[in-house]
Amino acid sequence: MSEPVSDSRRRFFRLLGLTAAGTAAGAHAAPYGLPTGAGFPPGGPVPPRGWPYPPGPFAESGYAGIPDEGPVGSPEEALRRLIEGNRRFLAFRSMPVNESPTRRAAVSQNQKPFAMIFSCVDSRVPPELVFDRGLGDLLVIRTAGHVADRAVLGSLEFGVAVLGIPLLVVMGHERCGAVESAIDLIARDERAPAEINDVVEGIRPAVERLPGVGKEGADRVIKANTDLSVERLKEIPIMAEAIGQGKLMIVGAYYDLDTGLVQMLRS
Ligand SMILES: [Zn+2]
Repeated sequence: MSEPVSDSRRRFFRLLGLTAAGTAAGAHAAPYGLPTGAGFPPGGPVPPRGWPYPPGPFAESGYAGIPDEGPVGSPEEALRRLIEGNRRFLAFRSMPVNESPTRRAAVSQNQKPFAMIFSCVDSRVPPELVFDRGLGDLLVIRTAGHVADRAVLGSLEFGVAVLGIPLLVVMGHERCGAVESAIDLIARDERAPAEINDVVEGIRPAVERLPGVGKEGADRVIKANTDLSVERLKEIPIMAEAIGQGKLMIVGAYYDLDTGLVQMLRS
């Protein structure tokens, strides 16, 4: 039997240790220790501009020197933007691209990302940083070893069919722990615990494509894993149709942890 929403909500806040504060300050108290009148609860007063921090040097006019690039005209142009962003990143010349107040307002009502990135969850490979892009630019999906399940495929199909995104980059990376573990477990014919084994099974085709390759050959398996993902995604009807119409390009990529370079593996 389901319980009233208010009860489950109270229990949730009790779990967070917030009951006392909530009770003391009344029904309109701000959670998480934030001052009242700062926009909480949702629907309350909007915080003043700049709250709780004073406006930065670029506050109103956006970031000088970075022109609005507008929408991309082709998959190739989308790819060029990513490559240019990565070149800035690896040279430690990242810019606040599309992070301005103007940009945040511009994309608040709708989105038109120009690329999808399907990559690993590894904390050292965050796509927005690696490609030096900002708000509304990238649709990012990440799973360990960029293993695709049905929800991932549905999300990617959404990006193509609904948002009309012209570029999908599948990105593996150097020293991928997911791939290295899969090589190890498959060699010993062992299972990983719980759902972690789903990740191993997702990487298995790449491991089996290169029989006998040990951990020292992990880089080859990592790239094979990316190649296989690209091949599989290209066969999905929604993707195949968009590719046939020149509306979508799918490319593999490999991120070098040491240098920050993204190498495109065009197929
Ligand atoms: Zn990884």
